[in-house]
Amino acid sequence: MTQVISPSGLPALSVEDMHKSFGDAHVLQGISFDAAQGDVISILGASGSGKSTLLRCINLLEMPDQGKVALDGEVIAMRDLPDGHRKPCDRKQVERMRSRLGMVFQSFNLWSHMTVLQNIVEGPIRVLKRPRAEAIEEAGVWLEKVGLYDKRDAYPAHLSGGQQQRVAIARTLAMHPRVMLFDEPTSALDPELVGEVLRVMRTLAEEGRTMLVVTHEMGFARHVSNRVMFLHEGRIECQGAPEGMFGDEGSERFRQFVSRQH
Ligand code: ADP
Ligand code: MG
Repeated sequence: MTQVISPSGLPALSVEDMHKSFGDAHVLQGISFDAAQGDVISILGASGSGKSTLLRCINLLEMPDQGKVALDGEVIAMRDLPDGHRKPCDRKQVERMRSRLGMVFQSFNLWSHMTVLQNIVEGPIRVLKRPRAEAIEEAGVWLEKVGLYDKRDAYPAHLSGGQQQRVAIARTLAMHPRVMLFDEPTSALDPELVGEVLRVMRTLAEEGRTMLVVTHEMGFARHVSNRVMFLHEGRIECQGAPEGMFGDEGSERFRQFVSRQH
């Protein structure tokens, strides 16, 4: 895959020494990595290893206790409070940064009272302040991309899980995210519906989008991502190109993890 270098030469996303605890549980224990423009990073690890928490701390759905997040070199400014907690300095900056990080969840999270089209144009109109007609026209492009143009007037309840997840991806694309974060996007789907979602994600990867993908799909990790990161107890235990990681460069624990996946 050709790598598009960001104009600034800075990583699209940079995470530095991120820590997060819930009570006594030290869930993220110092995570650092950069994602260059066009990197597709599969994040693997056992249940409870901190994968979701990592994504949620990157887009500040959870506040990290320590560490830095930067998008295209712009650091999200945070300050320490006297009680040991942290808080972003500037709400507006957080909203702006968050809108540049598109998140796709396991559970789709579509608005059930809105049609497919309404689900997609809501964010562009309300958050990006795009004119309605323009947002609707552009939504057609995203629906074509995920293969659901003919479902634009349907309600989510009338779609399969795979179709709902493809709508959720179109909705995220409509926000023009800088980096896309996927948290087990196919884990809630019946096996026969997984492929249609993975095909859309592969297309996005081939377009050079920057993606972090928490997944148990070893085929995606091996053949679509250009980097595999294995989390164990809140640390990056090993990472590298899929050829190496699935060859002999991964740790023993990673090999055992892979052998337990179907
Ligand atoms: P993964 O996505 O790898 O399965 P998570 O990031 O969801 O792991 O969770 C890592 C650990 O953090 C788990 O032990 C989980 O119970 C705990 N945890 C996650 N979110 C919270 C929360 N909001 N409050 C308390 N504990 C949490
Ligand atoms: Mg999780």
